[in-house]
Amino acid sequence: MPEPQPGRESILRLIPSIDEILQTAEAHRIVGEAGQRKLLALARAACESLRNQIKEEAISNGTSKSDLLASAVKSMQASWSAENRSGLRRVINATGVIVHTNLGRAPLSENAKKAILEQASGYCTLEYDLQTGKRGKRGARAEMLLAEITCAEAAVIVNNCAAAAFLVLTVFAKGKGVVISRGELVEIGGDFRVPDVLAQSGAYLQEVGTTNRTKLSDYEKAITENTGMILRVHPSNYKIVGFTESPDLSALAELAPKKDLLLYEDAGSGAMLDLSEFGLNDEPVIAESISAGVDIATFSGDKLLGGVQAGMIVGRKPLIDSIRKHPLYRALRVDKLAYAAIEATLDAYARETALTEVPVLKMLSMTKQAIEERTSRFAQRLGAQIDKDSDLKIQVIDGTSLVGGGSAPGTRADTALLALIHTKMSEVELERALRFSETPVIARILEDRVVIDLRTVCESEEDELFDILTRLSRFSRQNPS
Ligand SMILES: *Cc1c(COP(=O)(O)O)cnc(C)c1O
Repeated sequence: MPEPQPGRESILRLIPSIDEILQTAEAHRIVGEAGQRKLLALARAACESLRNQIKEEAISNGTSKSDLLASAVKSMQASWSAENRSGLRRVINATGVIVHTNLGRAPLSENAKKAILEQASGYCTLEYDLQTGKRGKRGARAEMLLAEITCAEAAVIVNNCAAAAFLVLTVFAKGKGVVISRGELVEIGGDFRVPDVLAQSGAYLQEVGTTNRTKLSDYEKAITENTGMILRVHPSNYKIVGFTESPDLSALAELAPKKDLLLYEDAGSGAMLDLSEFGLNDEPVIAESISAGVDIATFSGDKLLGGVQAGMIVGRKPLIDSIRKHPLYRALRVDKLAYAAIEATLDAYARETALTEVPVLKMLSMTKQAIEERTSRFAQRLGAQIDKDSDLKIQVIDGTSLVGGGSAPGTRADTALLALIHTKMSEVELERALRFSETPVIARILEDRVVIDLRTVCESEEDELFDILTRLSRFSRQNPS
């Protein structure tokens, strides 16, 4: 009989049992957050991973039982923390992109947050009229405010602008032709393609003009007996420049009723105010579209309007009423939390305090000088805190912020940036370290530096950012936490 060799077989026998893992202090901590079932799955996966590592000889034969237990616990913790990080987490947006689609578009105003929490998170008057004690109209005040601010006869709110466009086309153009300029057959955000939405709604496309130039006569010539609508789409995320032409909305508004057609504008971003002084020259102001004579306009609630995800539909009252009566509306309507936030956001527009109250507008209207002062103050404070021979080198430099995402293509605003260089980390490692901090900081890489744009960092987040950067100044590659 050969002597049992210390080797793969014997070390496999040292793998801790599930029970042993469950007895550790770390397991007791995780169970409180994750629950028993999840903990068990994590412990099993940790053992499995140990077994594989031993088979692949990634763990040496001399490893002790307690080392294996420690290793299992560590891998369990790592899996749990990775899963946690994959959930919805608050982040500090230091990219300077104001309407950042991947980071949740518009941040809410303080009043909107408060309204969600205090007015809508429990029982509320969603469909209840306090005056009469009877059933009330869902979202009545939010929709009334929306109509008032956009100077429309009526308004109705649905899940998002894609839903709004789909609903409008379904209710008014199903089985009919929709005339649209070739320059407006755009794709917005991956899965919203104007021709596809049109086809889904049961309408058919009557494209006119060319990519860069479409005349009123092109629209006129295309109209047939079966045409039901003229559609104008705001190409929100790209721009045709140079030799371009398209008829004014008011010219289309004159043509439409003559041919017994509806004029519908998908305005996208939802500017309630003229934002040209902040560099947004091409954003349709909804009230202007209405006064130019569109019958219906749709736009997002969480782009330039600065509220929550929602699709706003405004226009003539009989049309809005038909939308509300359509069975598809029931499937696309919004919940009480959205109504609460929208109502509070629109209140700021009604009071004319939106520029100082609604974060998107506040960030948009910040001057370069104001950001530069704030950034310099922050840099000075940071400089005083971190050691002279610290690993983190900071500098304030000139740069540009982008408005968005799904809005205002190419609109840039001058800004000041906090530029960071870390002597022990590359710019890629530093960007990652920021992203992996307790509150993730999302920053940009500019050449060999990581840059922080305070335009999109709320003042209430500054201390947190300060602490994160202070910690990073003492962080070296040897001890990644
Ligand atoms: C952004 C946008 C949409 C889609 O809006 P969501 O609110 O994201 O659904 C539709 N049309 C236009 C013109 C847009 O700009």
